Amino acid sequence: MLIDGKKIAAELGTGLATRVAALRGDGVVPGLTIVVATADESTAWYVRSLVRAAAKLDIAAGVVELPTDADASTIRAALAAAGADPSVHGVICQTPLPDGLRLADVAGAIPPEVDVDGANPVSLGLLAVGSPAAFAPATAAAVLRILDAEGVELAGRRAVVIGRSTVVGKPTALLLMDRHATVTVCHSRTVDLPAVAREADVLVAAVGRAGMVTADYVRPGAVVIDVGTNATPDGGLVGDVDTAAVEQVAGTVTPVPGGVGPVTTVLLMEHVVTVAERRGRA
Ligand code: NAP
Repeated sequence: MLIDGKKIAAELGTGLATRVAALRGDGVVPGLTIVVATADESTAWYVRSLVRAAAKLDIAAGVVELPTDADASTIRAALAAAGADPSVHGVICQTPLPDGLRLADVAGAIPPEVDVDGANPVSLGLLAVGSPAAFAPATAAAVLRILDAEGVELAGRRAVVIGRSTVVGKPTALLLMDRHATVTVCHSRTVDLPAVAREADVLVAAVGRAGMVTADYVRPGAVVIDVGTNATPDGGLVGDVDTAAVEQVAGTVTPVPGGVGPVTTVLLMEHVVTVAERRGRA
């Protein structure tokens, strides 16, 4: 049984549209700025899809395009300037960054209160201490939102996250732990990964290896969330999960495309709207 991420995203979008209308009624236009320093075509496609999603929700989205050889101080300055603009309620630093730069090197310049994709290391720290002031990276938040939409009980259940990146694996593990799941985080050095994965009631794959998670990784009836997005030679997109094989064993699986991706996009927009509402109340 496949989980329909597009349907979940559409339902979230409907609620969000009402909130945006209320803000606009009060004269507040929620604003998002995306800072980009790459010529990568798939990134450009993704940024265009964010701008379209924002427009659909009546959120003002702007893209700051920096040279592809921009250094850390240039990128930090652009992020700080966007963060200081009162008409901007969310700032995203798009990856990949120019050679040699890591997101954590520059994202500290995004003020945590407008860090809608949880990129500033301070946001991850706030998440780790359970502070409601922080936004989780939208992809990690999407994993939890899908589980909630599907009514998956987490307290006391075994969750296994494959991948320990700062943007997906770690924050997803923190969010699952916060919901009282017993969480195991796996990575490239994990010994006998399929056996560890088979312990999971909830299995999250965030690796970046097409079809790596086969039926052999999945306990019968488990909920499998596929975060992976891997380009295929014919221009398509596949996840980390061998969906056709895994759906024979799992209780439910998210497809790629149409699973985590659409929910991630709408949650980014939700974070922007939340900042606008917080400012409105301040
Ligand atoms: P990443 O930074 O490259 O991290 C990948 C993780 O997978 C690392 O922790 C790595 O382990 C682990 N790994 C690699 N090979 C492995 C193996 N053979 N067995 C077990 N673990 C292995 O990637 P990421 O940024 O977290 O992204 C992961 C995937 O999610 C990618 O496909 C990305 O495109 C996708 N993604 C999707 C969304 C969305 O909205 N759907 C958003 C963000 C990312 P080590 O730490 O030991 O190297």
